[in-house]
Amino acid sequence: MRFVQTELEPDDAASRARGHVGHAVWRKAGELGLLCTDIPQEWGGAGGDFRHEAVMYEECARRGLSGWANSVHSIVAHYFLNHGTEDQKRRYLPRLASGELVGAIAMTEPGAGSDLQGVRSQAVKQGDHYRLNGNKTFITNGLLAGVVLVVCKTDPTQGARGTSILIVETKDCAGFKVGRVLDKMGMKAQDTSELFFDEVRVPEANLLGGKEGQGFFQLMGDLPYERLIIGVSAVASMEGAYAATLAYVNERKVFGKPLIDIQNTRFKLAEVATQIKVGRAFMDRCVEDLVAGTLDTATASMAKLWGSETQCRVLDECLQLFGGYGYMNEYVIARMYADARVQRIYGGTSEIMKEVISRQL
Ligand SMILES: Cc1cc2nc3c(=O)[nH]c(=O)nc-3n(C[C@H](O)[C@H](O)[C@H](O)COP(=O)(O)OP(=O)(O)OC[C@H]3O[C@@H](n4cnc5c(N)ncnc54)[C@H](O)[C@@H]3O)c2cc1C
Repeated sequence: MRFVQTELEPDDAASRARGHVGHAVWRKAGELGLLCTDIPQEWGGAGGDFRHEAVMYEECARRGLSGWANSVHSIVAHYFLNHGTEDQKRRYLPRLASGELVGAIAMTEPGAGSDLQGVRSQAVKQGDHYRLNGNKTFITNGLLAGVVLVVCKTDPTQGARGTSILIVETKDCAGFKVGRVLDKMGMKAQDTSELFFDEVRVPEANLLGGKEGQGFFQLMGDLPYERLIIGVSAVASMEGAYAATLAYVNERKVFGKPLIDIQNTRFKLAEVATQIKVGRAFMDRCVEDLVAGTLDTATASMAKLWGSETQCRVLDECLQLFGGYGYMNEYVIARMYADARVQRIYGGTSEIMKEVISRQL
């Protein structure tokens, strides 16, 4: 895809060095109609479906480009589409589609990750607005975000039913602060950040869906979409790693012959190719089901669990075939390997996926 090759790939090293891709890429993607491709045209999107989104995740993952977190941006757009009021959709979706606003979703806190019921950020109603206080961490797009969906308690006595999502616009927002852009093992070009909310005034019109206590149900409803994004990018990353490894083992000579001529290399790559073929068939089926509206939570969790776990194993095998060069960040396989590790953690850990799947047994 041209945008990935001309805009993202040439700037990747610089983006990794500065820790973010910058606003210009987002605006360019918006101009080209590459943001919110599966959001209806009446809301500023391209009117496509998840298959259009999947192409972009795949093109990036195949090349080891992990800085441009269009996935989270799309997830945010879907919260607006699926749960927002008419007014909220009108106010935010066209600006997300144009790239004017970058989207982030802030669930995780220092004390609450897998167990989101433990969220302590709190919004207290005062007249026609809320006063929001809380700390969030590990927030993708945190530095560049113009709009953040903040998961918080509007009634701390109610557990899940006391959870809501507030829409916070970050520009000139008193009391909002971006903390550190976190130094990660991989995904160096992605601005994963801490966010602080200190007495932030949020208009009541910015309560997602307009009704308190809906936050948990809104989060649960959108999970299949989020998990499939991770599964789809996992398979594409394996495909990219396989292609890079195949090229390398044909070139690299050991003991006077190409590395591919050693049986172990061929066997390892045969295993990798098999995993990819099986994974591709399953993931494409999940994409079809999502488009048809029939992808259930357990199957989406399987896509995330199997995809991310297999990705890590496959990338490890591929890296091994590069020898010491595989450990060097100038080789894409090293960056892909480091990037892959978090796929088993974010969007719900592998252990949480097993919990979810086991509830459907
Ligand atoms: C690069 C990156 C980007 C991220 N982006 C975002 C973002 O944009 N927005 C956001 O809100 N969050 C984001 N996260 C946070 C991510 O979703 C959480 O890290 C993840 O959900 C796990 O939470 P935790 O880190 O608090 O781990 P914990 O919940 O503390 O888990 C620690 C360990 O305990 C295990 N565990 C927990 N509960 C159970 C259980 N019931 N059964 C068995 N094992 C269990 C976990 O699987 C894990 O192995 C991001 C994280 C990273 C690293």
